[in-house]
Amino acid sequence: MLRVGMMTDMHYADKNPAGTRYYRETLAKLADASENLADAKLDFLVELGDFIDAADSVETERRYLKTIAKPFAEICDDRHYVLGNHCVDTLTKAEFLGGVGQEKSYYSSDRGEMHFVVLDACFKSDGTPYGRKNFVWTDANIPPEELEWLKSDLQGTKKKTIIFAHQRLDNEGNHAVKNSPAVRKILQEAGNVWAVFQGHSHANDYREVAGIHYCTMRAMVEKSGLANSGFALLEIDPHGTLKINGFRDQADYQWS
Ligand SMILES: [Zn+2]
Repeated sequence: MLRVGMMTDMHYADKNPAGTRYYRETLAKLADASENLADAKLDFLVELGDFIDAADSVETERRYLKTIAKPFAEICDDRHYVLGNHCVDTLTKAEFLGGVGQEKSYYSSDRGEMHFVVLDACFKSDGTPYGRKNFVWTDANIPPEELEWLKSDLQGTKKKTIIFAHQRLDNEGNHAVKNSPAVRKILQEAGNVWAVFQGHSHANDYREVAGIHYCTMRAMVEKSGLANSGFALLEIDPHGTLKINGFRDQADYQWS
């Protein structure tokens, strides 16, 4: 049994709330998540993107990142960060990844009998990586080189696989990866993909497409108060069930 902590769309920033987003409250919500996951003996912790929110200068945004990265790191030694559009708004990918101590923006790894893939859809249609406010958030793409890598990575393993992404791979529209049909085709043809976890649209959502579970996780930043937070503990039995234990406003799921 593997235990994975998961949270998304934390949007931490030292700035006043805007609409339904309570940026400063993320620190208290993260402390609450830390407490709730303390006894879970996590194998690893994954953050599905939009870890921070935009600042008007690189310096300030680096400060936001430093502030949230520290308590997040205290939850688990083994951590994985998916790039969200807000992570690389002012910062470059190299600056964000340097700030959290992660080498690559997309990669895979094995844990026991499971295979895990982190994807990066923060690329413009022309293949340019996001950074320094050079993009519009609706133009999210997985470029040809990453698609090729994904295809051979999945073909290279017989293990059951779970995919982590920020922008959505299960639908069309503003919150979707523009070339999501091409990505889904690769996932379906691989035949070993069990589930895809994604963030970006901030509300609980779930869809099954061609036998693969696509689960959109609740954003931590939405609404005021701990009761309106959202995070999850995945319990993964490679030969049994994949259970999503949702905390606060995060929905529960169980798939076999
Ligand atoms: Zn977000």
